[in-house]
Amino acid sequence: MRGGDEGDEDEGGCDEGGGEGPSEEGDDEGEIADHGVEELARGPSRNVQKSFKAIRDEDHGEDVAVAEEHEEEVSGYRILHDGCVLDIIVRVQPPRERVFAPDWFYIKQPKKIRRLGRSIIVRDACDFGAWIDRVIRDFVESPENTLRNEADEKAWDDPLVGFSSGADPLYTYYKEDIGSFFLTPVEWFEETFTETEVEAGELTVISWILPHTKATKAEHRLQREMPTERWARARIYGEEFNDKLRRHVVERLEDAGYPAVAPMLSPGWSRETSEKYGFASNWSERHAAYASGLGTFGLCDGLITPKGKAMRAGSVIAKMGIQPSERSYEDHHAYCLYYAKRACLECVGRCPAGAISEAGHDKERCNRYVRATEEYVESNFGFKGYGCGLCQTGVACESRIPPDIFR
Ligand code: SF4
Ligand code: SF4
Repeated sequence: MRGGDEGDEDEGGCDEGGGEGPSEEGDDEGEIADHGVEELARGPSRNVQKSFKAIRDEDHGEDVAVAEEHEEEVSGYRILHDGCVLDIIVRVQPPRERVFAPDWFYIKQPKKIRRLGRSIIVRDACDFGAWIDRVIRDFVESPENTLRNEADEKAWDDPLVGFSSGADPLYTYYKEDIGSFFLTPVEWFEETFTETEVEAGELTVISWILPHTKATKAEHRLQREMPTERWARARIYGEEFNDKLRRHVVERLEDAGYPAVAPMLSPGWSRETSEKYGFASNWSERHAAYASGLGTFGLCDGLITPKGKAMRAGSVIAKMGIQPSERSYEDHHAYCLYYAKRACLECVGRCPAGAISEAGHDKERCNRYVRATEEYVESNFGFKGYGCGLCQTGVACESRIPPDIFR
């Protein structure tokens, strides 16, 4: 697989795109608060328990089992995050005359139950994928998502979110193919949480795509050599937002009791040189997105997603089980017209540096060109920045998977 480069590091052209709720039988649930700790309705369980008592039947001179009914006092708490039930802690107070185990409990279809003395905790009862998806979308809708221009336009359109398992063999393949410096999800986790033991299969890589807005793309399409102000702002301030999103996702997970790390924010993240691919790093947002079913690579190394190639990507690794997203492709170039049909080559014509050819993407040439835009951005737009990404706009894969791929 062509790779090992990472948009966040070398911006390199196309590399601009960087880098359930259980129910307690017997509890009256009532309104679910959006966030926090909610006390369960207290009271007798509607689930009347039967016990059997041996009673001497004097008439017949024998012991018989007689069913007795008991009601139990149920109380506890639900731990809620964004309306999603993460934990239910239930305390069951058995009736005094109860003859069965004192910590008897009844929970409908929990995924995991952990006893805590006389209480139990039901975990993983939440659709974590849906919760994380909402955490990301809500943040993208927040005022943090801004180009910081006069009109305070948003930097990014609605995101795409995908998941892959920490045990996905693609991650070990990346290490073999890109270089031994590349860290797999479990290696990132062990490096970050040195006291915590973890199996690769207990980890989920949460990946997202932040597509450029229509306004940014429409304007940038007309450019031939230098970036527009919106594009350069998205590259600098939009990526600052992407960092805040990485931090936000980690914090939300940790608040909920799930340790998580964003490799791009880690002091352990580093630029590297791949023998096979040149510029590289020890984590790649686009490779995480590929593994998470979000897109495939194009001739210019950018990731072609259902929302196109004009985007940036982000990811977080969490100790949390989430069903991996489907990868509806087998080939890592499946969505590029050049590789699939020997057609297109529009990105070649868009590159002012001559950094893209049928041989692929010349990362060094691209990087030199991108760095040369710094002076232009500062003198024309008044802030320190850079940007190119001309190969990401005005091409067939700019805002979607080229429809010809499916014909
Ligand atoms: S258009 Fe060329 S120089 Fe610009 S980002 Fe793409 S590959 Fe790099
Ligand atoms: S512009 Fe055409 S050749 Fe270039 S990456 Fe997109 S689909 Fe492939």
